[in-house]
Amino acid sequence: MTARTPPTALTIAGSDSGGGAGIQADLRAFFACGVHGMTAVTAVTVQNSLGVQGFTEIPPEVVTAQIAAVAGDMGVAAAKTGMLATAEIIEAVAATLDEVHIGQNAAVPLVVDPVAASMHGDTLLRAEALEAVRAELFPRATLVTPNLDEVRLLTGVQVVDRAGQREAAKALLDLGPRWVLVKGGHMYDSPECVDLLSDGRDVVELSGKRHESPHTHGGGDTLASAVTASLAHGLDLPDAVAAGKRFIERAVAESYPLGAGTGPVSPFW
Ligand code: PLP
Repeated sequence: MTARTPPTALTIAGSDSGGGAGIQADLRAFFACGVHGMTAVTAVTVQNSLGVQGFTEIPPEVVTAQIAAVAGDMGVAAAKTGMLATAEIIEAVAATLDEVHIGQNAAVPLVVDPVAASMHGDTLLRAEALEAVRAELFPRATLVTPNLDEVRLLTGVQVVDRAGQREAAKALLDLGPRWVLVKGGHMYDSPECVDLLSDGRDVVELSGKRHESPHTHGGGDTLASAVTASLAHGLDLPDAVAAGKRFIERAVAESYPLGAGTGPVSPFW
């Protein structure tokens, strides 16, 4: 008897040697959500719980060859991007996504997590690549999932409250994604953690309890991956985001200390 093949999901992202964020977090979340994970590695970071000591990017043609190899053979039910490091990688990835029919105007949904820096403030995207994120990635995205630092870098909007989240959602939608999720987790003075989901017509506030954990390394990647996995399972976008939000809440609640710095959110429960 042949076992059932699970849905497939592709992450286009960087490696975290500490195993808490990047493709390592993505694969853990994909596994926990019951999808077969595939990877196109964009950069190799040298990091541990104390921060990112440096990274080397993968040549753009090697990144795109990984995408074409898996898309052409195994098929991709949903995809996400994380750390893309340089404008050259972003431009090459965008062209390849079109060729393999991944993105908001193609059959396969694309979640863009516009990773710019680590929680320790270490750069994961070269400064000159921000324009490529706006021009090349956002118009192809089914969903973008910026945190408030990334919102400020990409739109100039400084969010301090719910009204600011709405203003940011509008500015981000002007860049062309179908949906935006403005994550409110970094508004630390609020007892709740409210994320705003909008497609320009509907606005949904997804409210959750804030878990006071210092160990949130990989949280953004894990949320975007759980949403991507839910899309691979065939959920529609708002349901997939709600499922991803439930997943990350649990992962933060179960996060654990590791090393001398910041531990990761947890897939173990
Ligand atoms: N390293 C890689 C490869 C990442 O993709 C990310 C975030 O997306 C990080 C590190 C930083 O994760 P955090 O901000 O949760 O520490």
